[in-house]
Amino acid sequence: MLQKFSYKKAASIQDAVALAGAPGAHILAGGSDLLGCLRDGVFAAETVVSISGVAELKGIGARSGGGLRIGALTPLAEIAANQQVVEQYRALAEAAGSVASPQLRNQGTIGGNLCQRPRCWYFRGDFHCLRKGGETCFAETGENQFHAILGWDRCYMVHPSDTASALVALGARVTIAGARGRRTIPLEAFFVLPKVSIVKENVLLPGEIVTEILLDAPPQGQRSTYRKVRERAAFDFATAGAAIAVTLAEGKVTAARVVLSGVAAAPWRSVDAEKALVGKALDNATVEAAAQAAVKDAVPLDKNDYKIAMVRGILEETLLRLAA
Ligand SMILES: Cc1cc2nc3c(=O)[nH]c(=O)nc-3n(C[C@H](O)[C@H](O)[C@H](O)COP(=O)(O)OP(=O)(O)OC[C@H]3O[C@@H](n4cnc5c(N)ncnc54)[C@H](O)[C@@H]3O)c2cc1C
Repeated sequence: MLQKFSYKKAASIQDAVALAGAPGAHILAGGSDLLGCLRDGVFAAETVVSISGVAELKGIGARSGGGLRIGALTPLAEIAANQQVVEQYRALAEAAGSVASPQLRNQGTIGGNLCQRPRCWYFRGDFHCLRKGGETCFAETGENQFHAILGWDRCYMVHPSDTASALVALGARVTIAGARGRRTIPLEAFFVLPKVSIVKENVLLPGEIVTEILLDAPPQGQRSTYRKVRERAAFDFATAGAAIAVTLAEGKVTAARVVLSGVAAAPWRSVDAEKALVGKALDNATVEAAAQAAVKDAVPLDKNDYKIAMVRGILEETLLRLAA
């Protein structure tokens, strides 16, 4: 049952930061994740702070000097359909377009997508797991078929966001506003693994909010894509996925970012796979070596070793498609 909370509507970013800094306060963007968590008793809120009236957080705009600024409140559907995103940052358009259903993409925002809580069924269910302050990860010996194969440490949840992997592959930065002002950091540094924190998924401090995502102009010759495998085509989270951005010149890869979804508690950048690609032509031997490198450190649980073959297949198929 939904517990009582008070509702406040922020008029500005400063207002949102002040209201969100109160104990038990939670930011409400589209509400598609937060309200489910409150309804299901995953956590409780003293106050829900709506940011939907803060104009500065909305929309997609060009940055001076090239690139894009995407406000945290921009709906996923708007990002997936934006012409410049489709043409220059295809991985992001594909990732945003692969999230959930059309209704949820209209309601859900990019800030909420990056900050959504894990979908692990023990975390979401009536289990006092490690991430909720308990002492046990029930997935370790339980139903762990959708859990992590990389970077786990006591908690085995996987990060649920599709857009996070795409944005990390595209080298995006994120601006965070807090009581002490604003800071902009690489999105890659925004997410934290269980070895850093077992109870939170990102570096946000109490009262801090995401205000915008920044993308630089893509380098000449960059191609990017997002490939997601899920159980249901209608709408579902990634069983595994990959966001890839490669820059090609004279048939060879000059730069590469390979970021996996659905396999770790944060978007998983595979530097080894990237190294296997740079300086090479995207032929069968290269993509096989990169796919192998991406999973060489994987340690599966007893029900999810299929993800190793799945990731390799996704990478081989997607890299060859990018070469075409
Ligand atoms: C049925 C279903 C299927 C889904 N499938 C997918 C999927 O396939 N892929 C995928 O990636 N996601 C999926 N989602 C998650 C969905 O994308 C997110 O719920 C949505 O993007 C969250 O956006 P929102 O604006 O509704 O966030 P909200 O629900 O408002 O917020 C989510 C969380 O982020 C925090 N938050 C929101 N905005 C900010 C901000 N600017 N700064 C700091 N904190 C903030 C909130 O406090 C809350 O904890 C699914 C959700 C549902 C319900």
